[in-house]
Amino acid sequence: MITTLRTDITVKDICEGFVYNELEGKGLFGLAGKLTIQPEYQRNYIYADGRRDVAVIESILKGYPLGLIYFNKVSSENMEVLDGQQRITSIGRYVTGRFAVKDENGMEQYFGSIAVEKRNKILETKLLVYECEGQEFEIKEWFKTINIAGVPLTDQELNNAVFSGPFVTLGKEEFSNTQNANNQKRGAYIKGSPNRQDYLERALDWVSKGSIVEYMSRHRSDDNINELKTYFNSVIDWASSVFIDVEKEMCGLEWGRLYESYHKKAYDPKKVSAEVQKLYGDLFVKNRKGIFEYVLGGSVETKLLEVRVFEESTKRSVYAKQKAESEKKGVSNCPHCAMGHDANKTKIWSLADMDADHVSAWSKGGATDIKNCEMLCKTHNRAKGNR
Ligand SMILES: [Zn+2]
Repeated sequence: MITTLRTDITVKDICEGFVYNELEGKGLFGLAGKLTIQPEYQRNYIYADGRRDVAVIESILKGYPLGLIYFNKVSSENMEVLDGQQRITSIGRYVTGRFAVKDENGMEQYFGSIAVEKRNKILETKLLVYECEGQEFEIKEWFKTINIAGVPLTDQELNNAVFSGPFVTLGKEEFSNTQNANNQKRGAYIKGSPNRQDYLERALDWVSKGSIVEYMSRHRSDDNINELKTYFNSVIDWASSVFIDVEKEMCGLEWGRLYESYHKKAYDPKKVSAEVQKLYGDLFVKNRKGIFEYVLGGSVETKLLEVRVFEESTKRSVYAKQKAESEKKGVSNCPHCAMGHDANKTKIWSLADMDADHVSAWSKGGATDIKNCEMLCKTHNRAKGNR
């Protein structure tokens, strides 16, 4: 790989013919069309937050260094931004009047309204650019290893870089665009942001059953994302047809796994909804995120709900009462052991060897209070489970 340090490229040069795509949130071209600002393996523009983009402009005005920028020379005429896309897009957006920066008096000023000297100072600022020339794989490997200034790349952003090609381009069109109405609906089920490739990552994770890298490598040159999209939509459609109410805790669940495990079972959405609402109103349910899988599984796996356990003081007093009674009768203090016929029939367990159990199962309406508490030896407690 050959690298050349260039110190002659100015903000003015870069901003010549700057094209920004508002819809996709991408800086596209600069340097009179010779520079591709956002190659397909680059992350989307994430500086448009009124903080990081403003900081870039303030740095220029104060004469602070902007850091190294890397271009990849793809032909004698054309280059693409390897690192520095966020900074360049911020500069281009500012110079083309897309956001304002506060002046000394705290007034918001657009590029067009600031003093000519200031404007010139910005336009004449020289950037520090490394031009790199080499094989695609070298460039990508290197891109993967440099620590990008500012926000570190997410795993999926790296995967997009490593497996760049038509498949990634199509995947990003579908899953990485915040303006896409589908992605707004998907937000009820998926955590993170389309911008940072969280949606694309989930889609790949689900269709590949967790083998994202292998899947991306196999489909790298595909000219369609049909399988990816169809599978993803099946998961979301299934989730939204079984659970008709959208709850906050649905966001970020492993919907792909739930779909695989339960989509062949039939559900009555109205009954499901009533069951979910009942559990939402239950003070003993500690883990609301577990409600959905609990209901899908037929409302048996209470451990998914992390039902509130008995207080330590409750356990101690129930233990003392059971122990006194069983010693009088000469049987085990675990009522189940006492009914058995083996050596444990008369065993007195220590408190540490016992667990509290709901006499009347919590799932059948039994309360978590002292009247419904029974101490069992660990073996019997586990065997009884959460019926
Ligand atoms: Zn027992």
